[in-house]
Amino acid sequence: DLRSGRVKWSDGMYALHDVDRSYDIQLDKLLEFYPQPDRDRLLSEMERSRKESSSYHFEGRMFTAKGRLRWVRIIGDVEVRDGEPVRRFGLWQDITDEKMLVDQINEVARRDELTGLLNRKALSGALAEISVASKSRESVAVLVFDIDNFKEVNDTHGHAAGDACLRHVARRIQIAVGDDGTIARIGGDEFAVLLHGKSSDTPEIMAERIGSSVGMTFQWRGHSFHCTASIGIAVRSKEAGIEPDELIREADLALYDAKAAGRNCHKTYRPALQAVSTERFETVRD
Ligand code: GH3
Ligand code: MG
Repeated sequence: DLRSGRVKWSDGMYALHDVDRSYDIQLDKLLEFYPQPDRDRLLSEMERSRKESSSYHFEGRMFTAKGRLRWVRIIGDVEVRDGEPVRRFGLWQDITDEKMLVDQINEVARRDELTGLLNRKALSGALAEISVASKSRESVAVLVFDIDNFKEVNDTHGHAAGDACLRHVARRIQIAVGDDGTIARIGGDEFAVLLHGKSSDTPEIMAERIGSSVGMTFQWRGHSFHCTASIGIAVRSKEAGIEPDELIREADLALYDAKAAGRNCHKTYRPALQAVSTERFETVRD
C-alpha cells in the first residue's frame, strides 16, 4: 500500500527471504536484501514504474536473511485510482536453478568438448570484444596452429590416440601461454592463441615457445608420441581496426606458408600471401 507503507506477503515470500511469519516487513528495509549494483537497478525500475504508473520487471541477485544467494525475477504492476498510484503488487520467482542452467549452457556452447578450450565461435567473440573495448594503441596478434601429419597418428594408432594427442597439444599450449593469451581449438587439429598486449614477448618468440612445448614427447598406452605444429601469425594494431574473421584468415594464410616451408616452423602474414592465395583460386577456377 503506497499510502500507508503497509506490505503483505504470501507464504512463499517469507520462504524466499528465509524468514518466518513473525518477520516485521518494513518497506524501506526491503532493498537491503539486494546487493549492489542490482539494488540500484531495482530501485530505479520501481521508481520508473511509480512515475509512469506502469508495470515493472527485474531480474537480479538477492541475499536471504540467512545470507544465501538467490536469483529472483520480479514482475509487478501499480494500481492507479483516480490518477494516483495506490498499490504496488508483484510476483517474486526464485530463478536460481534456471539461471545456473543458462550459465552452464552458455559455458558449454563456448567450449570445445575434447580439450576444454574455447571454441572458434568464442574466440571470434573474444576478438570482437577486444576490438571494441579498448581504444589503446596496443596491437593484437593471432597465432593459428595446425598439427603436422596428424592423420598419420589417427591412421596408425586409431582415433583415441589422435584424441590423446589433441589433448596433449592443448595442455602444452596452455603451459606455454599461461595468462598471456586466450587459447581456442578452432578446428580438427587447428588451435589458435590470441595475444593482446599483456605479454612482453613478440608473437614470434611466443610461437617458438609454443612450438617447442608442443614438440615434447608424450606417452599414451605404452607408445611414445612426438607432435610438431606449423604456426601462422597475423598482427594488427587496434587503430587499424580488428575484423576478427579477417585476422584469423590472415593467420591461416601464414599457416599455409609455414606448411609449404616444410612444417614445424612459424610464418607471419604478409600481403603477398593474399596474392598467392587469390592466384591459386583463379587458376583452379580457370
Ligand atoms: P598437415 O601436416 O598438412 O596438417 O597434415 P595432417 O595430416 O595434419 O592433415 P590435416 O591437418 O588436414 O588433417 C586433420 C585431421 O584431423 C583430419 C581428421 O581426420 C582429424 N581430426 C579432426 N578432428 C579430430 C578429432 O576430434 N579427433 C581425432 N582423433 N582426429 C580428428
Ligand atoms: Mg594437420
